[in-house]
Parts: sequence; C-alpha cells; structure tokens
Amino acid sequence: MKTHELPKLPFALEALAPTMSKETLEYHYGKHHQAYVTNLNNLLPGTGLEDADLEQIVVKAPAGGLFNNAAQVYNHTLFFLSLSPAPKKEVSGSLADAIKRDFGSLDALKEQMTKAATTLFGSGWVWLVKDKAGKLSLASTSNAGCPLVDGLTPLLNIDVWEHAYYIDYRNRRPDFLAAIWNIIDWSAVESRF
Ligand code: MN
Repeated sequence: MKTHELPKLPFALEALAPTMSKETLEYHYGKHHQAYVTNLNNLLPGTGLEDADLEQIVVKAPAGGLFNNAAQVYNHTLFFLSLSPAPKKEVSGSLADAIKRDFGSLDALKEQMTKAATTLFGSGWVWLVKDKAGKLSLASTSNAGCPLVDGLTPLLNIDVWEHAYYIDYRNRRPDFLAAIWNIIDWSAVESRF
C-alpha cells in the first residue's frame, strides 16, 4: 500500500506572518492537514485504491469519508504550495495571455475570485480551473469538494473554511481574502498551467 504523507512546506511556519500567522499554520497545516493525511491512510485498506495516486483516489472514491479525506489532502496541498513569503505577484507567459482572454485582467480575476469566496456559504473552496480546451474559469465547492471530479485542472484555490482564518481574522473572512493575495505566488499557478 502506498502511504500518503504531509507535504513539506518550502517556507518556515512563521514566514507568512502577518498575513498568515505561525499559529494558524501550526493548526491548519500541522493539525488539520495532517489529520486528513492520517485519516486517508487509515481508510485506504480494503478500498481497492491502496496503490492509486492521490488524484485518482479523489476522482474514484465514492462520496463519504475516503473522498472527503483524500480531497482535503489534495485541496490543502494545492493551497499551501500556492503560498510564499516572497511571491511572484504578476503573471507572465501563456497564463497571462489566458487570464487576459478569459477575465480581462489579473485584477479582474482576483476581484471575481474574492467575491466568490466572500459569498460562498459555509465551508468550502474557491478555485481557478482550466478545462480540457484550456479555457480558464472560477469554481466554488462546498466542504471537501474538488474540481478534479468534474475533469477540470485546478490551478489555484483559496480555503474559506473558518479554520483557515479564524485565529488571525476571527469572523472577518473579507479581511483574510483581501490579505491572502499578498502571499499567493503566481509562479506556482503558472507551473500548473
Ligand atoms: Mn483548511
């Protein structure tokens, strides 16, 4: 059986402060993300997906605990690996062209994604995704939902579960969303595109 592991972060837990505090990362990465990894490994035996890649598990798992934990491992890995204490704040190359074509500008994309995240009811994620034709769009999912199941390629996501912001911003989700762009590294998004 393949054992899934918590991905190593390429920055120190205190490196994203004040946008995201060390305490938030200790809980969100060190406890929540780790718990999803642990649960996934505990749930896999006997499912027929013991040797599958994480993305295959997300696509193939039936609704329920295995899907929820596998998707949350995938979702959080994408999220944390999109962050950097020294982010590239502009887009270039073919991603810049696609954003201009499908959103008008990077600012317009950020504004629309922020609005989607602000208005998403309850726990979930907002996503920048690419379809099979290469077209970009935004998606919102509740709870552990993941656009992989719809055949889309996730490029960027923002976690709007309360555990993502409650330590640093309490109930002020819009303040978290205004700040998160300061640590989103567009070079990570470009490499996925
Ligand atoms: Mn989370």
